Amino acid sequence: MEQSFSAIRMNQTGYAESLPVRVAVLGEGPLTLSDGDGKTVKTVSLQLPEPDEASGDRVQIADLGRLPAGTYQLTLREETRQIRVEKDPWKAVTNALIKGLYFQRCGCDLEEKYAGKFVHPACHTAPAALWENPEVKRTVIGGWHDAGDYGKYVGPGAVTVAHMLYAWLLFESGCEDPLNIPESGNGIPDILNEARYELEWMLQMQREDGAFHHKLTKARFAPFIMPQDDHEPEYLMPVSHCATAAACACLALAAGVFKDFDPDFSDRMLGAALEADKWLEAHPEFVPYTNPEGVHTGMYGDREVKDELFWAACELYAATGEAAYREKAEALFSEGLNVTAYGWADVSGLGAICCLFVLKEKAGETLYGALKKQFLEACGSIAALTEKSGYGTALPAGGYGWGSILPILGNAMSLILASILTGEASYENAALLQWDYVLGLNALDLCFVTGFGERSVQNPHHRPSGADDIPEPVPGLISGGPNKHHTYPMTKEKLGDAPAAKYYLDETFSADTNEIAIYWNSPAIFVGAYFRSRCLAERKN
Ligand SMILES: [Zn+2]
Repeated sequence: MEQSFSAIRMNQTGYAESLPVRVAVLGEGPLTLSDGDGKTVKTVSLQLPEPDEASGDRVQIADLGRLPAGTYQLTLREETRQIRVEKDPWKAVTNALIKGLYFQRCGCDLEEKYAGKFVHPACHTAPAALWENPEVKRTVIGGWHDAGDYGKYVGPGAVTVAHMLYAWLLFESGCEDPLNIPESGNGIPDILNEARYELEWMLQMQREDGAFHHKLTKARFAPFIMPQDDHEPEYLMPVSHCATAAACACLALAAGVFKDFDPDFSDRMLGAALEADKWLEAHPEFVPYTNPEGVHTGMYGDREVKDELFWAACELYAATGEAAYREKAEALFSEGLNVTAYGWADVSGLGAICCLFVLKEKAGETLYGALKKQFLEACGSIAALTEKSGYGTALPAGGYGWGSILPILGNAMSLILASILTGEASYENAALLQWDYVLGLNALDLCFVTGFGERSVQNPHHRPSGADDIPEPVPGLISGGPNKHHTYPMTKEKLGDAPAAKYYLDETFSADTNEIAIYWNSPAIFVGAYFRSRCLAERKN
């Protein structure tokens, strides 16, 4: 990308009337805000700051406070940029992030009435073979394509669903809109209908003895073709502890969410979770997942199951009330967990959400009191990161690895939860800067969500977007963002020694910086649903 960036970086999808408006400003001020009539509303004088470590930019956050709805002009030196303030600015982007998962659906036609021009016929409907015994074939249909590829992985699917279910449980008003998907109007909110599409697939990934296959993939990644043209055989890969425990936790959580909507479905999920738990109890020796020889698709080779077991014990305690699960969760917690991690590798934070927001006092002193203390201490450190960053980003300069959007959004989740637990607005304000980051307030002047913003991702590493002959990418997908850790040689060749927060290419090949993934959409759904719920609550007052 060429250096035609604006010196004013902002949330390109707009700002909320009920929340502070912040922009990042490069260089020195004054920065002038004027209203639709050209009248000056505010002037902020800004001294030239020290360079920001992650981006190298001389940049700082300018706080414009809360502004009434309207269109404003921001003027800095010779440049002017328009900002929009609305009551509910993030309805479209939050809904699109949820609908983004509909576009990842496997095994069904994406019909024009739901998918618009991004249609395709059903894909991956042939029976899958057991990798360990290819004579045995099973029909496993549905689920979401995981990322830019067409693989389907149990662990990443489980955390994606969990982010969505917790978004709905905690911030229902921010994510209950109809989304124009095939199930719309069936009496169940569409965010749950969409989550169910993955849950029904997950149930099929369980082996008869209760364990879960780690993934359903090809031996090799498909070329950049449409999914319906991908006819290489699919395999049910071996089972793993991490997949089994993550599925167990997710299904136990989902059983509670769907209890009133569909008791039979809820019972099926709780039954599957209990079978998975039985298998885990009977097989205490860790079964890791490593790609068998000849398999080159995504591995998600998690080597630590303590966090998945913790999450599962919390959810099973919430689902059944049996003290043995609480005791198990307490024992795992006492071994030490990162309670603010919500990604596919470390899911401890999902167990923490269960304890702090579902079980609450019922979780007992250890899993409520002690866990809350640890959680808030971690959130203090996260908030401090935003203070250090010129863009207010909750990531250390050395933290820009593959999918850096995940720790940023994960930290936003923690800050939101901390603001609810403490009532302190500073946490919410810090969280909002992460949402702003995703939507354009960053070192790249880029909105990371396809289809949104003046300058948004155009060429994600996403097979349908690359193969469908439609110029623009499939909408509502989020790019992984800058990555300076495990970088492709081709990316390095183009970026050289660029700063970490700018180590990004909007090019299709660059899976290392510009792939999309379901479990990057989902924490953005959680954060978007929260901020929408705040806007809507404010509106009622
Ligand atoms: Zn498919």
